[in-house]
Amino acid sequence: LVRVTLSGLCGTDLHSYHARLWQVDPAVIQGHEAVGVVHTVGEGVTRIQPGERVLVYQAFGCQQCLECALGNDHLCQVATNHHIGQKRHGGRADFIVVTERMCLRLPEWMSFEDAVVLSCAGGTAYAALRKVNTSYDDTVVVFGLGPVGLSAVMFAKAMGAKVIGVDPKHEQRKFASTFGADELLGTEPGDPAPLIKELLRGAAGAVAVECSGSSVVRTSTILQATPIRNTTRIVYVALGASEDRMPVRVGQRTVTGTHIFSLPDFYTICSLIAAKNLHPGEMVTHRFPLEKAAEAYQLLEQQPSGKIVFDAALE
Ligand SMILES: [Zn+2]
Ligand SMILES: [Zn+2]
Repeated sequence: LVRVTLSGLCGTDLHSYHARLWQVDPAVIQGHEAVGVVHTVGEGVTRIQPGERVLVYQAFGCQQCLECALGNDHLCQVATNHHIGQKRHGGRADFIVVTERMCLRLPEWMSFEDAVVLSCAGGTAYAALRKVNTSYDDTVVVFGLGPVGLSAVMFAKAMGAKVIGVDPKHEQRKFASTFGADELLGTEPGDPAPLIKELLRGAAGAVAVECSGSSVVRTSTILQATPIRNTTRIVYVALGASEDRMPVRVGQRTVTGTHIFSLPDFYTICSLIAAKNLHPGEMVTHRFPLEKAAEAYQLLEQQPSGKIVFDAALE
């Protein structure tokens, strides 16, 4: 039993809020991003003690299949809808019951704010960059500078890459500059593709990270902006509002999809954050008590820069 201190709001929550991409069981408490303090433990729990600060890993697997054995509980070959807020109650509550395996102990130096950002947006961005082997000789173009995009900017920078952030909103671009983006582009006066192409001209390696969910970016901008490097690695992160057809014949480019992050990723993220003295928690910009949930979701709809959280301390 974990006492929830912070529960994050995520772009994905809007799909549930409007029951857009999947059916939502109204009897299940929402919220797949939760961090808190272990309150009590059941019989047989030996690794986690009451009083410990934890990030609640959002997925739970069968514990028996190959993916679960590899720490990829989020890719379990047996379980379905195995995220908190889907089959199990989520984090929009004072307390949440989870398994011992889902409790990832926070390093002493890590704040709850850092952890709530990592619990979804940060972890997702990190895993996406690792999937395409982001390195110091890459130029990484991040499309969409919400919390996932901001995290991608921060981690790509920490991995040594040059980073270009693209977002139509001035506020998002301004915020991204504080997380280390080298270049920031909007969509004014028009399509940013030619400019991105120009910026990629001298790059040794090119990576495109799609965090916007915009169908224009997904199907057109990326493919027009990145052919300068036939070996561009493209990773589609955002779910997007529609199921856009993914282009397959793209020269020698690598197109990758990604879904949150694995259990082992958590430990390597923590070591990167410590080594580079990063502060993902600075992405938390808006706090609400749970009673003001409707207000919080309204704000989420407007896509403000930064992360919105429910903060138990405000109740
Ligand atoms: Zn999320
Ligand atoms: Zn499994």
